Amino acid sequence: VAVPGVADVVDVVVVGSGPVGTAVARELADGGSGVRVLVLEAGQPLGEPAGGHVKNIADAAARDAVLAALATGPGPLPGGTPARPGTTLVGAPDMPNAAVSTNVGGMGAHWTAACPRPADDEVPGCVDPAVLDEALTRAEQLLAVTTHAFDRAPLTGAVQQVLGELFDRPQRRPAGPMPVAVTVGEDGSLHWTGPAIVAGDLWDRPDVELRTGTLARRLLRDGDRVTGVEAVDLSSGRRYAIGARAVVVAADAFRTPQLLWASGIRPGALGRYLTEHPQVMAASLLDERHVPADAPVDADLPVTAAAAPGGGAIVPVSGVSWVPYAADRPFHGQVMQMDASPVPLDPGVAVRPGQVVGLGWFCRKELSPDNRVWFDEDAADEHGLPAIRIAYALSDADRASVAAAVEEVGAAARALGRPLGEPFVMPPGSSLHYLGTTRMGRADDGTSVCDPAGRVWGTENLYVGGNNVIPTATACNPTLTAVALGVLTARAVAAQLAAQLAAQPAIQPATPPATPA
Ligand code: FAD
Repeated sequence: VAVPGVADVVDVVVVGSGPVGTAVARELADGGSGVRVLVLEAGQPLGEPAGGHVKNIADAAARDAVLAALATGPGPLPGGTPARPGTTLVGAPDMPNAAVSTNVGGMGAHWTAACPRPADDEVPGCVDPAVLDEALTRAEQLLAVTTHAFDRAPLTGAVQQVLGELFDRPQRRPAGPMPVAVTVGEDGSLHWTGPAIVAGDLWDRPDVELRTGTLARRLLRDGDRVTGVEAVDLSSGRRYAIGARAVVVAADAFRTPQLLWASGIRPGALGRYLTEHPQVMAASLLDERHVPADAPVDADLPVTAAAAPGGGAIVPVSGVSWVPYAADRPFHGQVMQMDASPVPLDPGVAVRPGQVVGLGWFCRKELSPDNRVWFDEDAADEHGLPAIRIAYALSDADRASVAAAVEEVGAAARALGRPLGEPFVMPPGSSLHYLGTTRMGRADDGTSVCDPAGRVWGTENLYVGGNNVIPTATACNPTLTAVALGVLTARAVAAQLAAQLAAQPAIQPATPPATPA
């Protein structure tokens, strides 16, 4: 696989160190075949360990400083809102809240870690159900998903009972605790899973390297084979080539298709079928009638972030409840309990910790090839790549779904207690769940970009990963599914390399990066 002018040669380059890129690297490394993996990440680590969740930084001032240092990019557009901490707005009028994260761990260093499984027509039909099921289980292990993180939350049972009475039906999964990617320490401390948990000891292994501050600018090709990546050291501007037997791009739903486009790899569906989850929000004060007066009180339970054990910012009272998606109901609901401190109510109203709940409903959106990210050859981004543009609109059916979600959220807020204001619809892009732009499919029929293993149509050894490969119209938070599909991609890459290695002598040892542009 020697490539002229190449500084490094590895077996696999993975682009992006978010949950998916990290999971791909981990699964490849765990395969035990000594595959050499290089992960390129444009961003920098946000602390120790690399890829740890920012909210786990115990010191609030230090945490804020890390987030402030990341806050760059354009301000909010008309109709948009400020970027969520840790993200940068893309600057797209059709999707004003579209955002990306550029740091080790990607958005996975900032996420809320809700990890529901897809169900019914959310499930990608192009993957064998048993295979997908096992991959979802592996993804749950990698992300440390649990439904027990908030077992001590005192009012969660009441919330779930109300939600169950309202929404449970025989054909639906029942309302209950949201599966979350959270680790529970022996002292009861709760920590969000960042990609550092997915990685484990990955970055210390001899066959694996995480190279930060390094942008993949172009994929190098020889016919339908990708031979490596042109990388840029962003601190010095130095460009160099890296040779690879296979490349996996997991650089989010906007920048994955951007890199393919910039490299002249342009399947017809590239960037198309962009979707997200239109989001409806509300808040409610849980009525005392739902809360048994004689409920046992856990006197040791910390009720504010400041008092949470073991550092981190998760308060054990902040239970997360779930109203699962069902095909007869095109939403899924997340109900989060808040600690009492940030919610001033009427004078004289004493709010118990966990008594205020925030309701977020994510809607399934119809798929359309006209909703897309596209790349403007007449304008460059800060790295000289074609600028990201977004064309995106709701259909009549989408508007009907959103209206129905507003109704349903309102009903849930009323059933729970006293609604705090009216439900409201967030601007497009607010979900931070962007899907479909390199979607997978059974056949290269113009409606997909890759096969069910993530291999890009028309290439031998280029793979894509991330929410962008999810082909279905979903409502559930996507990361668990994307990590599961990434696990399958890693296994396909490993199998391909094993077949090649069986047919060829070992590749040359890697040399340090040295080739100037
Ligand atoms: P990302 O995490 O976006 O990582 C992509 C990485 O690629 C980035 O680090 C980026 O710097 C890097 N990169 C991009 N281009 C290049 C390049 N050319 N060269 C080198 N590196 C590159 N999802 C859920 O499922 N549940 C939730 O509860 C949830 N809550 C969220 C809350 C917030 C506040 C945020 C911000 C996100 C949330 N998400 C949630 C979304 C979730 O974080 C993403 O689905 C997930 O991180 C996607 O993983 P990824 O690895 O595909 O991409």
